[in-house]
Amino acid sequence: MDYGKQHKTLLQTIIHEGALHEDNGKELVIRLFDHNDTTKVLNEINAQLQPLYMVIKCVNCEVTGQLYWIFANTIEDKTARLHPEFSQVELALLRNVYSEIVTSNNGYVSSTLCLNLCSMLSVKLSKADAEQFLQKMVDRKWLCRKDGKYYMGVRSLAELLQYFKDTYDGNIQICTLCDQELFYGEKCKECFAMTHVYCLENYARNGGLGCPKCRLPTSAHNRPNDNNVDCMDVEDVSQIEIYETTQSSRRRLKRRHE
Ligand SMILES: [Zn+2]
Ligand SMILES: [Zn+2]
Repeated sequence: MDYGKQHKTLLQTIIHEGALHEDNGKELVIRLFDHNDTTKVLNEINAQLQPLYMVIKCVNCEVTGQLYWIFANTIEDKTARLHPEFSQVELALLRNVYSEIVTSNNGYVSSTLCLNLCSMLSVKLSKADAEQFLQKMVDRKWLCRKDGKYYMGVRSLAELLQYFKDTYDGNIQICTLCDQELFYGEKCKECFAMTHVYCLENYARNGGLGCPKCRLPTSAHNRPNDNNVDCMDVEDVSQIEIYETTQSSRRRLKRRHE
């Protein structure tokens, strides 16, 4: 099918939503095109967008693993292209939040700290205004909130990666499995490699065991949502055996070094 009215409707919906959840995107494709080949439709739109240096990117949320369709620029801009919908004060707050997330060890920042960041601004933002702003950032998918913590949102991942690379050179981790930049994921206790939670789940579903880099069992990882990091939460007995083997071989290694 040639590029037509249906493609335009889909594109406008994606732009309007900021980030369109894959499920809603699929539903819309079926309704507009009478088939469910979303890849084909997105390719047709992207072919049309290419001369404009724009693209529909499919990006996973680092926290939920859910896939979103996002309208983004393909030009790798050297300057921060933060969105024109924000005021100067809001931009300053957002930059502070980003900075905390990128430089944190765990890829998130608490909501208390987020609100405290407002008091660091030269132009003060009231607590209520800051809360409202943060809510807007979550609604528009620039940030992601879970259990009182703020994480990088899918739109930031899709649209601001170059800004982060330029601003925090050397501070951005790469996922061991998909080779993409990552801000939040599982960190291996042994080799400190970082892996997206959804990449690791995919890997495990396909028979992959433990850390993709050093093979340390996942149960011994610093689980991002689990404070009780040392607890064994594997059902598979073979994995427990591997875990014990690794533990004892590490003990042996340790003894050898003593
Ligand atoms: Zn990954
Ligand atoms: Zn490892």
